[in-house]
Amino acid sequence: MKELEKRIQADGRVLGKDILKVDSFLNHQIDPQLMQDMGMEFARLFASQGVTKILTVEASGIAPAVMAGLALDVPVVFARKSKSRILTDDAFTADVYSYTKQTTNQIRVDKRFLIGDDRVLLIDDFLANGQALLALKTIAEQANAGIVGAGIVIEKSFQPGRQNVLDAGLTNIHSLARIAAFEDGQVIFMNEEDE
Ligand code: 5GP
Repeated sequence: MKELEKRIQADGRVLGKDILKVDSFLNHQIDPQLMQDMGMEFARLFASQGVTKILTVEASGIAPAVMAGLALDVPVVFARKSKSRILTDDAFTADVYSYTKQTTNQIRVDKRFLIGDDRVLLIDDFLANGQALLALKTIAEQANAGIVGAGIVIEKSFQPGRQNVLDAGLTNIHSLARIAAFEDGQVIFMNEEDE
């Protein structure tokens, strides 16, 4: 999505060798117009899939997920993160290992908000190693819901996330921006023909 790529070029900052900071429009301050445009793009990409629910994870997935939910006219559920592992009968849970923070969080969704008849679209802000997406997939599977695919705002295609989730059987992954590399602090996007 050209608008997003331009915004990343203008406002994104490369930290170290593999982190992109986009806190001026996505991860801290939020640009509502850009979020709405992204939500409409997700809706266009998944329009024919019979989506009944969107599943994301707090906090940064929520803004694009809500806009996609608005455009598709379906509810949005966000998994909550907690540091402690709480066992309960009324929630679906999964562990997410974060390579960037080197911590494991449990994410949880109340069983009332995902049902076996749902056709779930997974949405997240970044795809890096695929751990967050795999945890969302696990949660949807616990509910016996169908998964129609995944919508990602920014994919770092030089990291193994896409391959890891494909290996786990998740298909139909659409990323609005795909980053091929960081070179001298600059973001290099994948060519459309590479995608
Ligand atoms: P994964 O689970 O795919 O390894 O990483 C996805 C999660 O890690 C995202 O939800 C995001 O919060 C965080 N993340 C991974 N890479 C980056 C990055 O380069 N920049 C930012 N801001 N967050 C990232």
